[in-house]
Amino acid sequence: EFHKSKGQHILKNPLVVQSIVDKAGVKSTDVVLEIGPGTGNLTVKLLEKAKKVIAIELDPRMVLELQRRVQGTPYANNLQIIHGDFMRVDLPYFDLCVANIPYNISSPLTFKLLAHRPVFRAAVIMYQHEFAMRLVAKPGDQLYSRLAVNTQLLARVHHLLKVGRNNFRPPPKVDSSVVRIEPRHPPPPVNFLEWDGLVRLCFSRKNKTLGAIFRQANALQTLEENYRVYQALQGAGSANAVGGAAGIRNLGGDEAMDHDGGDADIDMEDNDDDDDDAMTMDGDPSARSKGFGGRKGGGRVSPEFRELVLKVLTDNGMDTNRSSKMSQEEFLQLLALFNAAGIHFT
Ligand code: SAM
Repeated sequence: EFHKSKGQHILKNPLVVQSIVDKAGVKSTDVVLEIGPGTGNLTVKLLEKAKKVIAIELDPRMVLELQRRVQGTPYANNLQIIHGDFMRVDLPYFDLCVANIPYNISSPLTFKLLAHRPVFRAAVIMYQHEFAMRLVAKPGDQLYSRLAVNTQLLARVHHLLKVGRNNFRPPPKVDSSVVRIEPRHPPPPVNFLEWDGLVRLCFSRKNKTLGAIFRQANALQTLEENYRVYQALQGAGSANAVGGAAGIRNLGGDEAMDHDGGDADIDMEDNDDDDDDAMTMDGDPSARSKGFGGRKGGGRVSPEFRELVLKVLTDNGMDTNRSSKMSQEEFLQLLALFNAAGIHFT
């Protein structure tokens, strides 16, 4: 029998399996990474097309079942099974990732893939339908959030097909969707720690104007502290790493914690409007776990610094913008403008 706690819902409909493999565009030279192969319904189809499949599976019973299934077939030598937790395994080289994943690790799994180097060609992944819709949401969509901005900074994402719950055994409580993720190559030239600091702050109140967000005392305080630190480092040759993978895994945010901690049934995604920030708040709605807004009251902000910050916004007509409608390009532009003024988010 299957373990719901491991997200074990086996994809039974062979037409859906075939359709996923077809849409993945597997080449005969490809090394394919599969996460959570389970009993191997997808694995055997991938083996027919790929040079090699590397499957990472947590459950030892599934590992055995999969080994038995391929033993004595012409494909036995093309399958490598790694028994372990995807989140803890050092990933091998792969060209393509194709997987029907355990939904409770959707967010950290996605950012672990996007942080992987060298950059892979594409990932075709089955997610819970609601999570998939949040990944592909565009500026102005109801579901647009930090998750969408951060994912789309690093990759192009497309919804491929919706898969009803009755295609699985046992049927989960939710529907699923297959999404194609194509990492941008080369990765965008941005410091991901700075990026994440800015985006977290902007989405802390996603329907407020930037003007209102950047007038908050606790945000200004943190920014001014950063500003002083950078001023002090000026001339000390401080490096500002750009474009490397550092910081990408954090872009999945503290959402990871939320998923890992919860009861691991398939419908874990919290679809609150403001869920991204809610997950980073450690129970205090006015505080973030690190950086902005951790302190209340306390230190004061110099009027000059406040002017400097607001001038960046007003000079560029961005003070009336709202995060919920801002494209990734606009966030990049905003970050560049702030950085040029010596204002930093990390
Ligand atoms: N791919 C199979 C299919 O389509 O029929 C099974 C998919 S099932 C939704 C998820 C699989 O991931 C299960 O086999 C489960 O044991 C495995 N799994 C759960 N958590 C995992 C983890 N952290 N790392 C690797 N595999 C995991």
